[in-house]
Amino acid sequence: MVIVLKDGATKKQIDELMDWLTRFDVKSNLVEGVHSKIIGLIGDTTSIDVDAVQAKPVVETVKRVQEPYKNANRRFHPEDTVIEVRGQKIGGKNGLAVIAGPCSVETEEQTIKTAIAVKEAGATMLRGGAFKPRTSPYAFQGLGKEGIEILKKAREETGLPIVTEIMDTTDLDLFSDVDIIQVGARNSQNFALLKALGRCDKPILLKRGLSGTLQELLMSAEYIMSEGNSKVILCERGVRTYETATRNILDLAAVPLLKQKTHLPITIDPSHATGIASLVEPCALGAIAVGCDALEIEVHIDPAHAWSDGAQSLTPEQFKATMEKLRAMAEFCGRPISAK
Ligand code: PEP
Ligand code: MN
Repeated sequence: MVIVLKDGATKKQIDELMDWLTRFDVKSNLVEGVHSKIIGLIGDTTSIDVDAVQAKPVVETVKRVQEPYKNANRRFHPEDTVIEVRGQKIGGKNGLAVIAGPCSVETEEQTIKTAIAVKEAGATMLRGGAFKPRTSPYAFQGLGKEGIEILKKAREETGLPIVTEIMDTTDLDLFSDVDIIQVGARNSQNFALLKALGRCDKPILLKRGLSGTLQELLMSAEYIMSEGNSKVILCERGVRTYETATRNILDLAAVPLLKQKTHLPITIDPSHATGIASLVEPCALGAIAVGCDALEIEVHIDPAHAWSDGAQSLTPEQFKATMEKLRAMAEFCGRPISAK
């Protein structure tokens, strides 16, 4: 971190600032030029709040030269993190994971039929929301506990590991038999939830916030990891902009950029990113090309009658055809889709 001091900073003011900085266990070096004075901080500056430094009257500007996240930072953990779920590995040089299934778990029949169809088409995991974050309180809110029981039945039927979203820390016990716990875009900065998930021993699929920056996503991962859970999978699902033609804007550049900044595996969700079923396949192909470790795709046996997100859901037939193309792209990119 570099602190630029105001012109006319007195020795007393500088000493006071240097004294205050001793609490952070970093080395402070004062450099006095002809026209300006700066303090360079060396060491672990993650616990220093830039705003608190900026608030000191003698400080002109502050610049962080190191990222404010440590556990998620590739600088301190150069090897890719590989997360194992029921024998399937996500991340590193392992094959591409494809998480597919309905937006919401509606009925046992719908979920199991979808699970069988996506498994046959080559998906490696099953998704399905039991707790649904809906914009309207009058919209279907999910089956809750019953939904999780249905997902478990679908897992028994197909062997596919299950991925489902948590919305509240008080529901954590219900997720004890879930394979991957998803944190949705709306809860991406629910810090109490992130901390609670940091204390459990399960992989967490952490989505980017509705208009979240990549640094905010990494800081949310840091919340989970700083509590002891290093099994975090990041998910780019598009961000909201002024464009209304698609539900969100899919940020494909996020994948290679995040790969430079972090060792965590990265998922792309082209369904929520676009909101339009016909855009899912081309965007999924692009996602593989830019190096994602997993895809999350919504599939419904009857999208026209889906209880949520029908417009972006693929039919089982569409998903099968899409998977053919995804398989070819994944092979071409050296990351074949595999359940191992
Ligand atoms: C979902 O995956 O069902 C979902 C609600 O996604 P997001 O949090 O990305 O909107
Ligand atoms: Mn959805």
